[in-house]
Amino acid sequence: MKKRIGIKEVYTLADLESWHDFDPPIGLGVFGDPVEHSLSPQMQNAALKHCKIGMQYARFHISPDDLGKALERMRELKFVGLNLTLPHKVAARELVDRIDDDGKQIGAINVIKIGNGKMRGFNTDGRGFARAIREEFSVDLRDLKVLILGAGGAARAIALECAKSQCERLVIANGTFEKGERLAQKLRRFFEGPKVFGPVPRLQAIPWEESAFQFQIANADLVVNATPVGLNRGDPSPISSRLLAPHLMVYDTIYSSARTPLQSAALEAGARGANGLSMLLHQGALAFEIWFERTAPIEVMRAALP
Ligand code: NAP
Repeated sequence: MKKRIGIKEVYTLADLESWHDFDPPIGLGVFGDPVEHSLSPQMQNAALKHCKIGMQYARFHISPDDLGKALERMRELKFVGLNLTLPHKVAARELVDRIDDDGKQIGAINVIKIGNGKMRGFNTDGRGFARAIREEFSVDLRDLKVLILGAGGAARAIALECAKSQCERLVIANGTFEKGERLAQKLRRFFEGPKVFGPVPRLQAIPWEESAFQFQIANADLVVNATPVGLNRGDPSPISSRLLAPHLMVYDTIYSSARTPLQSAALEAGARGANGLSMLLHQGALAFEIWFERTAPIEVMRAALP
């Protein structure tokens, strides 16, 4: 007999180990540590309801040590799929049966589809980012000179998408310079074609320094923050408004219903700015499409976000 009770805000591995059916069943979820902040349930549950799919989506607080056990439990319970957020995106690669090309190249996955007892991993961050940029600024990545701040998981997904789109120019600025350099090296093959671009290199890693930012801003159209700087209350903008310029499009991958520090800096400099809510929306819509092989109700999902 199914229990007709409302679902909890957050479940744990202990809950999974003594799992019971819900009505409608919980067949999808997000694993994270922490996970309480995740906006995915409201977005995906709105989509499920709209599409009359009898299933619910829930949050699971899973520690890194429990990831393997929790994924196996999902397989046994015949879940349809999962999202992964920090800190599981890299470790989960080793625990699934197959990974899509983006996931392999980025070295991280954020979506799992479970079917016939097999788990397939995907990375939808890069494609979600490309759709977000098109929506926010009405431009395609291929027409842009892009400066990315960061070289972690999100930056790697974004940089790969820019490279695959044959963007005009790609510059990676990272605190740990060598990490930015390694990312640029991995993408070098995408920039060896005939597209020629002025006196500055088409692909470059730069140190996290004001003078380097200043020079690059003059040769950039789009600045992307793919670091967590701006996430915590009181954080500064990762790049000062003094260094920004009115010609720029500025995208902060941090999502918030309020303006992020980088968005405020962009506004102060007379530039256009947007935050990561649109990327969150589009990477979530792509996940829905992977799970159900049908178009996601994007406007319903958007309306469910703050
Ligand atoms: P990650 O893998 O931990 O990478 C963090 C990056 O930020 C690293 O390059 C790190 O540089 C840099 N960094 C950290 N603290 C810094 C500081 N104080 N100053 C300068 N650089 C700093 O994290 P991630 O998964 O890429 O996530 C990054 C951001 O992307 C998060 O804020 C997340 O919210 C956002 N994100 C948004 C979406 C969306 O859908 N909107 C999706 C994915 C991620 P070092 O290499 O020097 O340590």
